[in-house]
Amino acid sequence: MENMPEFTLHRPDTAAEAVKLKSSDSTSRYLAGGTDMIVNVRRGIETPETMIDLTAIADIAAIATDGDGLRIGAGAKLADLAVDETIIREYPAVAQAAASVAGPTHRAYGTIGGNLCLDTRCLFYNQSQWWRESNNFCLKHKGDVCHVAPGGKRCFAAFSGDVAPAMMVYEAKIDLEGPNGSRTIPLADLYRNDGMDHLTLEQDELLVSIRLPKAGPGAVSAYEKSRVRGSIDFPLAGCAVRLTEDDGKIADLRIALTAVNPYPQMVNGLADFIGKALDDDALDAIRELVQKQAKPMRTTTVRPWYRRRVVGALARKLTVRLAG
Ligand SMILES: Cc1cc2nc3c(=O)[nH]c(=O)nc-3n(C[C@H](O)[C@H](O)[C@H](O)COP(=O)(O)OP(=O)(O)OC[C@H]3O[C@@H](n4cnc5c(N)ncnc54)[C@H](O)[C@@H]3O)c2cc1C
Ligand code: SF4
Repeated sequence: MENMPEFTLHRPDTAAEAVKLKSSDSTSRYLAGGTDMIVNVRRGIETPETMIDLTAIADIAAIATDGDGLRIGAGAKLADLAVDETIIREYPAVAQAAASVAGPTHRAYGTIGGNLCLDTRCLFYNQSQWWRESNNFCLKHKGDVCHVAPGGKRCFAAFSGDVAPAMMVYEAKIDLEGPNGSRTIPLADLYRNDGMDHLTLEQDELLVSIRLPKAGPGAVSAYEKSRVRGSIDFPLAGCAVRLTEDDGKIADLRIALTAVNPYPQMVNGLADFIGKALDDDALDAIRELVQKQAKPMRTTTVRPWYRRRVVGALARKLTVRLAG
C-alpha cells in the first residue's frame, strides 16, 4: 500500500459547517471512521486535497428513541449499534449486521454513516495503484474497459456493506443535509444499480441520521453473511430477513440482500407468501426467488454461481430460524 499523500484536514463541529466546507472545495471528501476512505486514499483510488473529518460533530453521533421509533446518528459507531439494548431487542438484524462488520478495531472506529455510504467493491478495483495500473486500470477508475464484463460499458462492482439490508427490512429512512437544505428519503432510495455511481446523494450532501420506524408487534429478524475469513471480512453474500407470523402462517416477510449487486436490494414478490404456512414448499420457493433476483458478477475470487446459491440458502436458513 502506498504512503499517505498530503491533504488538508478540517474538523467542523456542526453538520452545517461540514456541508459548507465540503461545498467550498470540489476535491474534498467526508471522512468518518476512515476505515474505508483511508484505505482508498492510500491506494490512490481517492485523491482528495481536503478531507472533512466528521468525528467532532457531537449531535450526529447519538442513538435515541422518539415517538416514531429509533433515530441513529450517522456518526454512531458500529460497535455501539452492536451492543445497544434497544437495537438488540427491537431490530436484532441491525445489531447482528453491525457486529459482523470487519473486525473489532474497525467497528470501534467505523460509523453507520460510512457503512451506508461505502464505495462498491471489485477484485479489479480494490487493489494497489501499481496493480491497477499494470492492468490498465478499469472503467470505474481511470480506465476504459470493465475486466468483469469487457463487452459492455457498465460497472458491476458490488455494494458490500452489511448494515444497509438489515435496516431496509425495517423500511428505514435517512435524513440528509446539503447546500440546498435538508430532506428525508427511504434508505432504499439512497442507492442505484450502477457500480460506478451507486449513491443518489446530491453534491456535498451529508447523511445526518437514520430513522427506524417502530418494529411491528411480533416481528423478528436476523442477518447473516458468507465470507472468506470469519473474523474480518466483507460479505461475499449477505441476507437480512424480517418475519411476522400469525397462527403459523406468514403475516409479513421482508428480505434484503447485500454483496450480490451494485446496490443493497429488497427482494420483490414476497407478498405472494402472505397467508401461507412456512412449510418446505414455501421455504424452497423463497430460496429460489432470492436466487433469481441476486445477480452477482465475477467481482470477487469466489464464483458468482456460488454466491447466488449461498444467498438463497441464507434466506431459507434465516427464515427457518425465525419461524416460531
Ligand atoms: C479489512 C477490512 C474489512 C472490512 N470488512 C467490512 C465488512 O465485513 N462489512 C462492511 O460493511 N464493511 C467492511 N469494511 C469497511 C468499513 O470498515 C466499514 O464499512 C465502516 O463502517 C465504514 O465506516 P467509516 O466510518 O470508517 O467510513 P469512512 O471510511 O470514513 O467513509 C466511507 C465513505 O462514506 C462517506 N461518508 C462517511 N460518512 C458520511 C456521511 N455522514 N455522509 C456522507 N458520506 C459519508 C465517506 O466520504 C466515504 O466515501 C472493512 C474494511 C476493512 C479495511
Ligand atoms: S466491475 Fe468492471 S468496471 Fe467495475 S470495478 Fe470491476 S472491473 Fe472495474
